[in-house]
This record gives sequence, C-alpha cells and structure tokens, in this order.
Amino acid sequence: MIRKTIALLLCCLVLLAVPVHASECAHEYVERREEPGCENSGLLWQECILCGHKTGYTLLAPVGHSFADWYVTTAPTCTREGVQVRDCTVCGARETASVPPSGHAYGAEVKHPTCTAGGYTRFNCQFCTSYYIADYTQPLGHSYNIILLREPTDTARGQVRFTCTRCSESHVTYYTFRDIDSDAYYFTPVLWALDAGITSGLDDTHFGPAALCSRAQVVTFLWRSAGKPEPVSAWNPFLDVPKGSFCEKAVLWAYETGITTGTDATHFSPNASCNRAEVVTFLHRFRGCPEPEEGTGFPDVPAGSFCHKAVLWAAQEGITLGMDDGTFRPTLSCNRAQIVTFLYRDNMNP
Ligand SMILES: [Zn+2]
Ligand SMILES: [Zn+2]
Ligand SMILES: [Zn+2]
Ligand SMILES: [Zn+2]
Repeated sequence: MIRKTIALLLCCLVLLAVPVHASECAHEYVERREEPGCENSGLLWQECILCGHKTGYTLLAPVGHSFADWYVTTAPTCTREGVQVRDCTVCGARETASVPPSGHAYGAEVKHPTCTAGGYTRFNCQFCTSYYIADYTQPLGHSYNIILLREPTDTARGQVRFTCTRCSESHVTYYTFRDIDSDAYYFTPVLWALDAGITSGLDDTHFGPAALCSRAQVVTFLWRSAGKPEPVSAWNPFLDVPKGSFCEKAVLWAYETGITTGTDATHFSPNASCNRAEVVTFLHRFRGCPEPEEGTGFPDVPAGSFCHKAVLWAAQEGITLGMDDGTFRPTLSCNRAQIVTFLYRDNMNP
C-alpha cells in the first residue's frame, strides 16, 4: 500500500515538475523588439506571454548615423589639404575627411612698358606669397618729336633735335646727307633711321631716297630696327646668301622668325628688287601677322591677293597712306625713302 502511494506521489511530482508542453499552450503572442543602433542590427520577434515561447525573428537593419553638418577643424591653404569632421547626433561617432586645397587666387598687376623697359603682368596670390610673371611686352621705344635745328652746308653738318614725347629723353643728331629735302615726306623718317642706326646712307652725303631697295637691304633694315637680334641657329638654307655677306645675319633671322621663306627652298634672291607688296608683307609678318579689321582697302589690292591682309593692316595702322591717286601700287619697286618711311611709321605706332 505504501509502495503504491509513493508511486502515485512520484507520478504526481513528475507531472507537476514537467512544464506544460508547448503544444498544449494556447500561445498569446506579443511583438517584442530590440531597436537597431547606428551600426548594430536590431531584432523583431513574437513572444508568448503565457509560455515565453519566441518565434518569428526578423533582423532590423542598422539605421546608420545621423550626422550633423561637416565643420572644418583645419582650414586648407592654397596648396595643402585641410581637415573637416562631422559627428553623429545619436552615438557621437566622428567622421573625418580632407578638404581640398583652396588653390591660389591670382590677381593681375600690370606693369606697363616704358620707352626703354619692357612690361609684364605679375599675378599675385591674394592668400599667400605665390606669384608668377607672364605676358611680357616689348619696350615701346622712344616716340620722337624731331626738329630740324640746322640744315647741312658745305662746311657744317646738319643738326636735328630728338625729343621723346613720352619720357622727354632728348638729344641732338648730326647729319651730312645733302639729298634729303626738309620738306620731303621722308625727311623725318630718314633722320630717325639714321639716328637709330638703321641706315648710314649710300655715302656721307647721299641717303639715296630714290634708289631702289634690294630684298637684302629691306630685310637688313628690318633686322636693324628690331635691334639686330642674333639668329638662333647657324643653319643657312640659302645658297645665294654666302657666309659673311653683309645681310647674312639679317636674312637668317628673317628666315627663322618666318618673315621670309626665300624665293624658293634654297634661294633668297638678295639682289632682287623688292616691291611695295613684299615690303609691307615683311613688316606684317615681323609684327606677327595681326588680323586687320574688316575693310575694303585699296582698289588695286583686291581681297584674295597674297598681300591683301598685310596691306589692309598697314593702311589701318597708318604705315602706308597709299599713292596720291588712292591706289597702293603693290608691284611698284620700293625705294629707300619708302622703306624707311614704312619702318618709321611702324615704329612710331608699335
Ligand atoms: Zn505560449
Ligand atoms: Zn551614430
Ligand atoms: Zn596662394
Ligand atoms: Zn621715351
């Protein structure tokens, strides 16, 4: 009897100790969640309030940081990167990034050329000491007012006073040419060319205004007016400009700078006469082939002719006034008076 009672008791104890089996709970689920963080996942699940059974797990993706705006902690310089940060308003996590260099901010300071010194533009950075210099310009050269003080006689040299209208530099030049009339259009240009070392005349007393100019002479005049620059290379493509001839450096310089290409690949034809079209073309190329403004120009230099642009430019610049009858006469041989006058007008208006 006691044995039977103990067995029954044990049975009851076992029944009490073993929880109610899952399948026997009517499960009343509620939703439970662990909120996700900036970087950590969250969790969503169903949990029975009766038996605590959990089911239906769902991962909740991290929501990511909620960053405030970037702010600069180290300002960039012209050339060095800076630093910026932003903080998460939720977790305080900090992100760091570079700020690109600001780059130089250059302002131009123009130095204008004077009669004797070239100009340039200095670009200064507004934020640092960096600068660079560019856009060099040529010296203007003096702009002379030329006054005849005394004409030459058989016994005394002529005297001319040169006074620069820009910088007031002033000096007297003497001359002995007896074939340049003080009323002639080329009087001032010839004295200017003499003073500038561009011509020394045919001899002491003759400039030779009506003498025709050879191609060698024209290029030599141009070369001297440019300040006698040394040619860069010793290569001479022209068989008819022998080494050591008076025009050798001038022709090589003109060839190098594109002022002349010769009359063919191996000839410059130094002794050939030079017509007005050629002279003006040389000058136009010497000035870098500036584009003339729209215009009609001279009736005998039609659009499409090889020298049209050069002649139009020269007319607009006041380098040529043309002939009295309104023509230019491109094929007329250029005499020494004309070439010196072209050069003079070009130099007075650089
Ligand atoms: Zn349950
Ligand atoms: Zn965060
Ligand atoms: Zn700078
Ligand atoms: Zn001057």
